[in-house]
Amino acid sequence: MCTGKLMVIGIGPGAPDEMTLRARSALESADVIVGYKTYLALLTPWLTGKKVVGSGMMQELQRCAEALKRARKGERVALISSGDAGVYGMAGPVYELLLESGWRPDGGLTVEVIPGVTALLSCASRIGAPLTHDFCAISLSDLLTPWTVIEKRLHAAASADFVTALYNPKSRKRTEQIVQAQAIFLHHRTPDTPVAIVTAAGRERESTTLADLATMLTHPIGMQTTLLIGNSTTFVQSGVMVTPRGYSDKYDLGKAMERT
Ligand code: SAH
Repeated sequence: MCTGKLMVIGIGPGAPDEMTLRARSALESADVIVGYKTYLALLTPWLTGKKVVGSGMMQELQRCAEALKRARKGERVALISSGDAGVYGMAGPVYELLLESGWRPDGGLTVEVIPGVTALLSCASRIGAPLTHDFCAISLSDLLTPWTVIEKRLHAAASADFVTALYNPKSRKRTEQIVQAQAIFLHHRTPDTPVAIVTAAGRERESTTLADLATMLTHPIGMQTTLLIGNSTTFVQSGVMVTPRGYSDKYDLGKAMERT
């Protein structure tokens, strides 16, 4: 009977203080840590005394397979994802590979998914309260998803007035998707709709910029950027981006303050 364990860990955006306690304990309990090199570099304090298996960007499936192989041999394996492992992360391919190979939850090999702070949450917290009403996330990466599908979702989100987080907006090779996304949103929303552009939250060279739909492309956007596009009620005041929950329609906010 296999006694190994695979822990799929979301490490948060990058800063150690934005990693959950559960993720920390899981890392500490692991025999081996498997992950993309850039993320391993964020985990230096946890790597001492562990076996470490790092790999490059395009080797996601190999990383999952390696982690599974080791867990099947009886090791306690930590497979790491940035943010949350279930949001455009490793938890999906892990379960796909496992189920493909006939794995069952009661079959010996234990799998645990440990949640982390996903980019849209860490990025939102840096700019105010942009996600306080209905929102959605769309990845602009068409490496595994056809662009026609992404385009349809952009139109649906924009027309339904969701606050929208755009993940994977741009890379060195993929530069056109963000241009098309902007055009789709401009079709449904006004040019002055607030857009937050957050890059490398919790990492070196973190930056947060407030722009709007009309000007968003004049700012640097890269692989480590998440964009948060406001809905039709989102506003910016004193450098803070807020999507109202609707209290001001029902209550007199001035009076509410007087009562405190
Ligand atoms: N599992 C991750 C997402 C991986 S997809 C999560 O839950 O956050 C990679 C995309 O996530 C990047 O292109 C970027 O859009 C976003 N992202 C990841 N880390 C980020 C960070 N520290 N700051 C800003 N955006 C980030």
